Amino acid sequence: MLDQSRSRGKILFVGLLLLVAASLLPAQPRPATLEVDAREAPRKIFHARLTIPAAPGPLTLAYPKWIPGEHGPTGPIADLAGVKFVAAGKTLPWRRDSADMYRFHLEVPSGAASVTIALDYLSPAEAGGFSSGSSATAQLTLVSWNQLLLYPADGKPDELSYAATIRLPAGWKYATALDVVRESPEGLVAFAPVSLTTLVDSPVLTGAHLRVVTLTPPAPAHRLDLAADSEAALEIPPELEGQYRSLVAETGALFGARHYRHYDFLLTLSDHTAHFGLEHHESSDDRVDERSLIDPDKRKTMAGLLPHEMAHSWNGKYRRPADLAIGGFQQPMLGDLLWVYEGLTEYLGQVLTARSGLLTPEQYRESLAMTAAEMDHREGRQWRPLADTAVAAQVLYDARSDWAAWRRGVDFYPESELLWLEADTIIRRETKGGKSLDDFCRAFHGGQSGPPRVVPYTFDDVAAGLNAVAPFDWRGFWRTRLETTEAGAPLGGILSSGWKLDYGETIPEMQRAAEEAHKITDVRYSIGISVTDEGRIPDVLPGSPAAAAGLGPGMKLVAVNGRRWSKESLRDAIRASKRGQPVELLVENTDYFKSYRLEYAGGERYPLLRRDVSKPDLLSRIIQPLASPPAMPAKASAGKK
Ligand SMILES: [Zn+2]
Repeated sequence: MLDQSRSRGKILFVGLLLLVAASLLPAQPRPATLEVDAREAPRKIFHARLTIPAAPGPLTLAYPKWIPGEHGPTGPIADLAGVKFVAAGKTLPWRRDSADMYRFHLEVPSGAASVTIALDYLSPAEAGGFSSGSSATAQLTLVSWNQLLLYPADGKPDELSYAATIRLPAGWKYATALDVVRESPEGLVAFAPVSLTTLVDSPVLTGAHLRVVTLTPPAPAHRLDLAADSEAALEIPPELEGQYRSLVAETGALFGARHYRHYDFLLTLSDHTAHFGLEHHESSDDRVDERSLIDPDKRKTMAGLLPHEMAHSWNGKYRRPADLAIGGFQQPMLGDLLWVYEGLTEYLGQVLTARSGLLTPEQYRESLAMTAAEMDHREGRQWRPLADTAVAAQVLYDARSDWAAWRRGVDFYPESELLWLEADTIIRRETKGGKSLDDFCRAFHGGQSGPPRVVPYTFDDVAAGLNAVAPFDWRGFWRTRLETTEAGAPLGGILSSGWKLDYGETIPEMQRAAEEAHKITDVRYSIGISVTDEGRIPDVLPGSPAAAAGLGPGMKLVAVNGRRWSKESLRDAIRASKRGQPVELLVENTDYFKSYRLEYAGGERYPLLRRDVSKPDLLSRIIQPLASPPAMPAKASAGKK
C-alpha cells in the first residue's frame, strides 16, 4: 500500500497547477527524467535510469561530490556501478576525468537530442558515514537522490529541472517533502518536476512500517514521518508527540517566520542504518536506534536531534554562509563559518529541546555540563584554534575518535554552543535584560515567510546583526575566541548565566543514558579513559592519570586490581581510590599483557552545573518556553508570535 492518506488532494491540486503553468509559460528547457527502482532496497542495490537533454558534441556529466549539509566531498562515487550511456540508439564510449573522479566525458552523436543513462547504486550494508552510510534494511530505506543521478557538469543545479519517479517495494509506504503528481497501486510514484537543487534537498523515506503523525494543520503543515524496522517501534507516546508539537510552536515563536511550504521530519528508526541527522529546507533526514521513541533512555539521547535539524531550516538552509552557498555540487564548500552554521544551530537546538519539554531543565543542564567538561579537557586547544576545526571540517568529520582531545575534531559544534551561550548572556547584560539572542535570530533568520530560498551571509553580516541588537565589540569577541590557542574551555557563558562547571560523584541521568546507548563506561574525568562493554579502550584523555601511566587508545582492559574487569569493579576501584586503595589495570595491547598502576586518589568525578547564587539564574530564563503550549491534538497555530 502506498501512503495515500496525505497525497490525494495534493495530487489533484498540483496536477491542475502544472496544467495552468504549462499553458502560461514560454517553452522551458525539457526536464531531465530520473526513474529510480528501489524494489531491491532490502538487498541494498538501487537502479536508476536517466534521460538528460543533450546536443551533439562533447558532453561532461558530473556525479554530485559536495553534499549540502555534509560539508565535505562525500558523494559515494565508488559505489556507482553499471554505468552505461546510450544516445540515438548507440551505446556511447565514456572516459572518467583523470583528475576529477566525479566527471564522465562522452561524445553525443549527431541526430541525438538526449542521452539515456543507466546506473546502479550499491548501498553499503555496514553502518557509518552520513547519507552515504548504511541506508537500507529489510524493512525500510531512505533514498538520497544525489546518489542516483548525473547532471551536465556545466549546468547550474538551481536551473536544471528533474522529473523523478520511484518504484517502491510491494506494500511499502513513503513520505517526502516533494509534491506527488501521480501514483499507481503497484508502487510507482511520480513527483512534480523540481530543480536539481530541490530534488537533492528532498529525500524520500519509505518502508513497510511507516506512520505519519500530523503535528500541525496546513499553512504550513508539519509532519513527523516515522519508518521503523518494526510496527512496535512506531508507537510514539502521546506526551512525546505533544513535545514535538511544542517544538514547532517554539521555532515559530523564536524565528517569527518560516521558510518552507510544509515541513517533514523523516525519522528512520533502525539499528541497521547509519545514525545521524541531515538538514534540508523542507524536511530532515533523521536516523536513530529502532526503539528510540519507546525506550525512555534512548529518548533522552536523541532528544536534541530533531530540534537541531529543524533549526537548520533557518540557520543553514535559509541563511547560509556565502562560502557554503556556492550553488553547485562540484566546487569545494568552505567551512570557515561553520561555527555559525553548526555552532549556533547546536546552541539553538539544545535550547529548543528544553523549551519544548523534550528535556527537563535539569537534563538540559546535565547535557550542557557534559559539553563544557569535554571542551575543558581539550588539550588540543593549545595547538588548534577553534577556527581551524571549522576550516578543516571536510577532513575532521571522518577523523577517528582516538586521541580526540589532542586532535580536536569538529569542535565548532560543542565549543560554539558555549560561545553562543556567552553571546546570549552578553546581549542580555548589555541591554539590561531588554534583548536576547532570540532578538538576533528573529532579525537575522526571520523576515518574510515563504517557500525555500537562500540568503547568504558573511562574518561581517553576523557581527553587524549582533550589533544591531546590542552594540558591542562582536568582531573582537568572535575573533579572540576563534583564534586563541590556550587551555581551558570558554566557560564565560555558563558563569554569567548563574552556574558553574563542577564535578560530583553520582553519575548524572544524561550520562547514564548515553552510556547505555553507546555501550560504554565513561570515566574520563576521573582516571581518563572510556571503555566499551567489550573492554576496548577507544580513547584516553591526555594529561589524565591513565595517560600518565602509559595507556593509549585501542588497548583492551582485562582486569582491575587483579580481578576480571566489569563496569562495577572498575567504578568500585575508582571510588576506593579516595581511601588510598590502588587502581591497577591489566591491559592487553597487540597480544601483550601489562599492568599499569595509576597515580590517582580522586574517587568518581562526573560533570554537573552548580548554581552560583551570587548571580541571577539566566540559564533557566533562556530555556523558558516562548510559545504557549499547543492545543491537543494538532490544533495549534504554527506559533507565529
Ligand atoms: Zn547540524
